[in-house]
Amino acid sequence: MNIAHRLAVMASVSSILCCQAAVAAPYTMPVYSSAAEVNADCDRMMNDLKDAQAKLEGMTSTSGAALLPQLDAIYRRFEDTDGPMALLTAVHPDKAIRDATEACDLRYQAFNAAYLQSAKVFELLRQVQPADDIDRRFLKDTIDAFTDAGAALPANKQKRAQDINNEISRLSQEFERVVREDKTQVAFTEAELMGVPPNVWRDAKRDEQGRYLLGMAYPISGPVIERAVNPQSRERMWRALNGRGGSANLKTLSELANLRREYAAIFGFESYADFAERRHMAETPANIQKFLATVKDAVVKREETDFALLRGFKARELKQGVAATKIERWDLNYYKQMARKAKFAVDGEQFRQYFPPDASVKFVLRLATKLFGVDFVPSQEPLWHADARAFEVVDLATSKPLAMLYVDLYPREDKFSHAAMWGIRASSTLVGRLPAGGLVANLDRKGLTINELKTLLHEFGHALHQVLSKTRYASQGGTNVQVDYVEAPSQMLEDWIYDPKVLAVFKEVCATCKPVPAALLTRADKARHFAKGIDVSAQHFYASYDLALYGNEPQEPMKLWAHMEAATPMGYVEGSMEPASFGHIASGYAAGYYSYLWSLVVAEDLRTAFEGKKLSLEVGHRYRDTVLANGGQVAPKELVRQFLGRPTDSKAFFKSLNK
Ligand SMILES: [Zn+2]
Repeated sequence: MNIAHRLAVMASVSSILCCQAAVAAPYTMPVYSSAAEVNADCDRMMNDLKDAQAKLEGMTSTSGAALLPQLDAIYRRFEDTDGPMALLTAVHPDKAIRDATEACDLRYQAFNAAYLQSAKVFELLRQVQPADDIDRRFLKDTIDAFTDAGAALPANKQKRAQDINNEISRLSQEFERVVREDKTQVAFTEAELMGVPPNVWRDAKRDEQGRYLLGMAYPISGPVIERAVNPQSRERMWRALNGRGGSANLKTLSELANLRREYAAIFGFESYADFAERRHMAETPANIQKFLATVKDAVVKREETDFALLRGFKARELKQGVAATKIERWDLNYYKQMARKAKFAVDGEQFRQYFPPDASVKFVLRLATKLFGVDFVPSQEPLWHADARAFEVVDLATSKPLAMLYVDLYPREDKFSHAAMWGIRASSTLVGRLPAGGLVANLDRKGLTINELKTLLHEFGHALHQVLSKTRYASQGGTNVQVDYVEAPSQMLEDWIYDPKVLAVFKEVCATCKPVPAALLTRADKARHFAKGIDVSAQHFYASYDLALYGNEPQEPMKLWAHMEAATPMGYVEGSMEPASFGHIASGYAAGYYSYLWSLVVAEDLRTAFEGKKLSLEVGHRYRDTVLANGGQVAPKELVRQFLGRPTDSKAFFKSLNK
């Protein structure tokens, strides 16, 4: 997952008067000790932005050389304050500070919704003659952003567009906040937790009856659903997890879908998907539907076989006939892991002893050193929580600082509950601006499973995209790219961990870590393709639901979900409400969830260059200089062509579906 700023193209300017290259200085995160400090910083940003807009509107020069850098300066001014605040909203332990950072973002979004309708700036933009391809792409993206914010609409429609944008910002925040601050706990006796590793529940608080109170954090809820022998225990935890957000979030999601539909209609589009996809690689919902249908065709038989196998395991365990056996949603992970263990002698838990969290972080950092020639130097700057860490990213060849990277890895109350990377600030070679990114996860302190190591590497892939970016404009820096391409650099790295040469790097960073036995890794490599039919079909389902929610017909989110899920092999579970915590589609991935499958086509293609040489500095450097350095300033297809030396294709992706 990648958290980019909505309507990221554009904005700000204390630097509007000073666009000469400055000396690159490492970034430091602001430390706020009160909401009042947040508000004061926010006031400064808002004043600067208003001044900057006024100066921009007073310009008469229409040469690209003057206008485009100043537009980017507005964006940078916003990012200076709102970039770190967006991360703090997700991780800061103090609710008053989180609330203040959220309020600040709403103030910025309101400014942006109005600024992007400025007739004067829009007019200036249309007169710019771009000097080269980078300026041309930035100009086009900027004109698109102004157009999509309503710069060309009549005044009465402009007002409604602004109101809708503001309401969408507010509701998206609310949706995420409800999930983040969820306090649901489920009580279990020790007997009910049979099968669940004791380290998951042993230290949990207990209720007055002595039952263990387990919350929704992934290192807790995940193992209960995957391991509890008692099906009622699995079911209770599954229902709690899929009840998060509740009817309040369902109502919010419904409002978001209606507002996005109305927004698209203002621009003459039948659906929000039509409105949104025209700016993506996919271009139209029809192209996505076609792609999704091809993917489903490729895995549908395999999905049937996967379920038949799991039913066999359940039938044997319950000593009943296979025909009468159904895999329930809370059975899926339980029987998947049972089958994986039986077929491949692999159990995710086995890996925790080999992958301690600190060593795992050092391991992924060292991979980047080997592949991309960069070092990560721990920095002692004060941060928002004792668990958070800062690293200065340094270029090994020149010893020059490149960026800052922040990591916050363990679950705690009120923290963002998934794994994601926040692009705190983007690079701009124009002003010597160095980027920064924040990687947030919820790992188990006892060690990682191989899947959790994969998740860490995925988010680290986003972070590398952010911190190794060297774009001219911050607006196009790092992960400020099209949403259906943004996952490719992170997904690409996911399968590095199955290569024994790669895993051997662990011993370079952790002398006391035991190496993963070669035979276990070989078995894990085979096991990772197990149940791919089920897994890819699930991604297909999420993507299809998202497209339908934002498609031609108005939909009530829960009704649509129940209807669509009823047609899947496990059916719909009465009372469950998964859309109420499906944060992707409430915010940045609305009508864009298909990106995970779409980006995977690019990721698989990128991997072909690393075949048999996953630690090649030569290939790594080429990748860094093309794909990573260029962020969004060059079209994805062109970047992949530059890197691979041939046009991109989907052969590797479809081959992987059959592995
Ligand atoms: Zn991602």
